Amino acid sequence: MKAKYRVLREQGKKCPRCKTQMQVRTHLEITSKQLRQAYYYEKWYRCMNESCLTTQVNPPEFKVMNPKQQRKKQDWEEIQRQNSFLQSI
Ligand SMILES: [Zn+2]
Repeated sequence: MKAKYRVLREQGKKCPRCKTQMQVRTHLEITSKQLRQAYYYEKWYRCMNESCLTTQVNPPEFKVMNPKQQRKKQDWEEIQRQNSFLQSI
C-alpha cells in the first residue's frame, strides 16, 4: 500500500508516555476525505518505540478547521425556499 504521509522530521517532541522523540508526519496530500470532516490534523507525531502503547499524538495546534461556507449557503437557500412557500399559502 502506498504511504499516505510524509516524514517532516525524524525527531520532534518527546512522547508523553515513553519520552522517546517522536517522528513528525504530514499528509502527502489533502484529499476529500480530510475535507469532509469538520477538521483534520495538518501534522501529527508518531511514537516509533515499538513497546510503547502511544502510537500517534494529535496536538491541538496542528488542527485545521474546514470552512463551512458551503453549508451556510445551503442553509440560506433552504430558508429562502421556506419563506417563498409560506408566502404562497
Ligand atoms: Zn512512546
